[in-house]
Amino acid sequence: MANQDQLHRYLFENYAVRGELVTVSNTWKQVLENHNYPLPVKTLLGELLVATSLLTATLKFAGDITVQLQGDGPMNLAVINGNNRQQMRGVARVQGDVPANADLKTLVGNGYLVITITPEEGERYQGVVGLEGDTLAACLEDYFMRSEQLPTRLFIRTGEVDGQPAAGGMLLQVLPAQETQANDFEHLAVLTETVKAEELFSLPAEEVLWRLYHEEEVTLYDPQDVEFKCTCSRERCAAALKTLPDEEVDSIIAEEGEIDMHCDYCGNHYLFNAMDIAEIRNNASPADPQVH
Ligand SMILES: [Zn+2]
Repeated sequence: MANQDQLHRYLFENYAVRGELVTVSNTWKQVLENHNYPLPVKTLLGELLVATSLLTATLKFAGDITVQLQGDGPMNLAVINGNNRQQMRGVARVQGDVPANADLKTLVGNGYLVITITPEEGERYQGVVGLEGDTLAACLEDYFMRSEQLPTRLFIRTGEVDGQPAAGGMLLQVLPAQETQANDFEHLAVLTETVKAEELFSLPAEEVLWRLYHEEEVTLYDPQDVEFKCTCSRERCAAALKTLPDEEVDSIIAEEGEIDMHCDYCGNHYLFNAMDIAEIRNNASPADPQVH
């Protein structure tokens, strides 16, 4: 078992630049459970997971972020959903043959990166960028330049430790509304780029930062745990069932004896028989009166 997944935030005292360092090995392992994805899809989900964790940590409010790749390639969908409590889940949909060494473009084909930010209070925001970059990190850097005009760099590493999936990453971002010299940011990016996968996966954050930036003054803040958590529930399934036409539900019950609602994210099954369905229909909330 790898160390507890954690997200660390840090700040350079002499530059208006902030950083994040995250490990998501256990969470990635749980995302892959109950699925049999080809290796390149596993790797891309790991990268998406690292990226989503780093992105949710840039939120200034409570809410969640969905980072999604979609296209006409053999992996036509990959999505990771995370929130400001660093609870993450994700899934990919594979519909064609995936070459063993498939890169981002081969997997997704003609496609997009879609980032949806949903605050607990306030307007939902969606950003879409074409897959111009060769890597997910490059596409996200492009997104930050277009959407927030904030120079941002992501460093994503995936691999294995003792035969188990291991993933982590770092983010550097210029602080909004502050003067940062481009060459200072580049200097810090060059230092960060040298981070080795093994260091990121196995060493304490303090040690990684010391190795990368020992000539810089860095303040490291208290970490936040990252965990796999699915938001599915029996209540949500019941609510979804209620939106289906009665005849459709009744015909499945008649044929199968029960309705099996399966969660793609975590593999949970929720079973509803005729009695459950009757109860759902009778329990219409007072705000939603049934008119006969
Ligand atoms: Zn679930």
